[in-house]
Amino acid sequence: MTQNNGEPQRRTRVESFLLQQPELEPHIDGHGPVGWDEVIADSLFEIAALAKATGVKIRIAQFKEKFGKLRIYTEIDELSSTGFEVIERTPAHVHLRTGAVPGSTRERVQQIVDAATARAAKVCVRCGQPATLTMGFYQFCSEHSTAYW
Ligand SMILES: [Zn+2]
Repeated sequence: MTQNNGEPQRRTRVESFLLQQPELEPHIDGHGPVGWDEVIADSLFEIAALAKATGVKIRIAQFKEKFGKLRIYTEIDELSSTGFEVIERTPAHVHLRTGAVPGSTRERVQQIVDAATARAAKVCVRCGQPATLTMGFYQFCSEHSTAYW
């Protein structure tokens, strides 16, 4: 393990998870704010457990922050996709993804991703504590809402 001033280097839960499950390492660079570490790590654990339980190969294409929201892009080796559906539409952008056959592993992955996105929207991007204030695209707790700017 990498040493840093004699102390073991601290890793985020996401980094620790990906060291143990390198097959889920996203193949496109990207990362979420540190405050989303728990949310992203929990969703990766759930996706890994789902892949193991179903035998369906699931790859993480990327996870990242976009317009203040968590995006987790996956590739699922299952013939369960339907046509594109609109996830979100604003004057600035349209978020599309392929739909999923009900009851499929793809649908379950989308439920995990949607739950993670909803959870990330409620926590401080700096520390992961419950958010109390939105500034711009981002959520902050009471401590970090005053310290950020
Ligand atoms: Zn905070």
